[in-house]
Amino acid sequence: MREEMRSFGYLCPSCKKTVQAARSVFALEAAGAEVECSCGGSVLRAVFDGERYHMQVPCGICGETHSARCMPSQLLEGASALACVKTKQFCCFIGPEGAVEKNLRELAVLAEKEQRGESEAFLDSVIMYEVLSELRDIAARPDGLSCGCGSKGIRMEVRRSAVDLICAECGAKLRIPAAADQDLDDLCCRMKLVLPGRP
Ligand SMILES: [Zn+2]
Ligand SMILES: [Zn+2]
Ligand SMILES: [Zn+2]
Repeated sequence: MREEMRSFGYLCPSCKKTVQAARSVFALEAAGAEVECSCGGSVLRAVFDGERYHMQVPCGICGETHSARCMPSQLLEGASALACVKTKQFCCFIGPEGAVEKNLRELAVLAEKEQRGESEAFLDSVIMYEVLSELRDIAARPDGLSCGCGSKGIRMEVRRSAVDLICAECGAKLRIPAAADQDLDDLCCRMKLVLPGRP
């Protein structure tokens, strides 16, 4: 009997290389899986509790390790992918060898581009748009935007996943993250923003 195999693939946050390994369905059901990068810097884990798989996925995009719970069908049937909670991009692929390999190759290219800063203008353009319009609202309030040095000449520099507010007078800088829903929530409850310049 030929054993059915499942491949796991991710991008190692330590060495930035793709890691791919296959495990038999039998082994997965019995003991879950551990896939380690040859550099020793990261390990993907799938632990089965009898009902679900608890995944620990090293993320080559944001550098953190993400936890996820998966139904057995996600691991044992078809092809699936797990997304990075920070960037919403897929960072782990599970499925037939060929599909995993192809997706991993694309992920490696994407991560490399990201490192060189060549990817899309904004990490999340919807969030960026909302953050910018919120900043405009704050700037429109009297004393909405100011610097601790007393200046009100504040310049905005839009980055990929943040907006930098820079004091034209003293150069003090305040970075407003603009990558996740939470960033927007944080900003929406602030009536005014003061840059950390000194009087
Ligand atoms: Zn590695
Ligand atoms: Zn991530
Ligand atoms: Zn200032």
